[in-house]
Amino acid sequence: MPNVRDNFGGKVAFVTGAGAGIGRAAALAFAREGASVVVADASETNNRETARLVEQSGGRALAVRCDVSREEDVRAALEKTIEVFGRLDYALNNAGIEQAIMPLADLTVERWDRLIEVDLRGVFLCMRSEIALMMKQGGGAIVNISSGAGVKGIAGQAAYCAAKFGVVGLSKAAALDYAKSNIRVNVVCPGIIETPMMERFSGGTPEGRQRVIAQEPVGRMGKPEEIAAAVVWLCSDAAAFVVGHAMVVDGGQIA
Ligand code: NAD
Repeated sequence: MPNVRDNFGGKVAFVTGAGAGIGRAAALAFAREGASVVVADASETNNRETARLVEQSGGRALAVRCDVSREEDVRAALEKTIEVFGRLDYALNNAGIEQAIMPLADLTVERWDRLIEVDLRGVFLCMRSEIALMMKQGGGAIVNISSGAGVKGIAGQAAYCAAKFGVVGLSKAAALDYAKSNIRVNVVCPGIIETPMMERFSGGTPEGRQRVIAQEPVGRMGKPEEIAAAVVWLCSDAAAFVVGHAMVVDGGQIA
């Protein structure tokens, strides 16, 4: 297994939204460090492809179908994790959906509810099950994905900002709840990252891409691997004293 290191040898990582973008890159990054990876996504086909890529890179993967907004899906996915790999050391709660740009009063209640259900309730449901397992085991590390929209208001993004600010608050409070239990909870707030979500958000046209790149001081989009690297570091022992931190990884966007 030439591509696999052993920093996370014998450890198990659980990644939501692993079928694409940041989640897929993080699953591959955890595997590269030697962890077994459970990839969880609502899209079965893409999720299985991530598991295949992990195995192709020399890692171990289990694909589970899971809609993070459904309590029973989340519970079943984490039960399967324990059944197959016997433990849970790291969790990346990353699954999320975007909001079309529109002012608050144009948002339908249905759109608001679904966004909060996936982007905020989903993180809560996952953390609840993950923490219960980590408590039994004596520790673990959780990283939740928020956004630049979780630390700064963005016009046309009221529901998304509400959910992503919520993820930061939820994570900071939980970090304090479990600081003495050896469970570290942190957050990564990505800037504009080149993923299928950003492709949809920008419209995928050269003009759309230029419009979002223009918001990036570094003059380019971030790569999913650049977010995955921050996630892996936050889970590692090198970050043992980092607790309840919302790390902005955004090419200088909010500097
Ligand atoms: P993406 O759309 O490219 O991939 C997201 C994955 O999550 C997909 O595989 C999708 O099937 C899955 N998913 C969606 N709803 C789900 C649900 N209910 N249950 C389980 N899986 C579900 O997105 P991405 O760009 O990789 O974004 C990942 C996370 O990063 C999201 O939380 C997003 O809000 C956040 N984020 C992205 C950017 C960016 O620029 N791409 C910036 C800031 C924050």
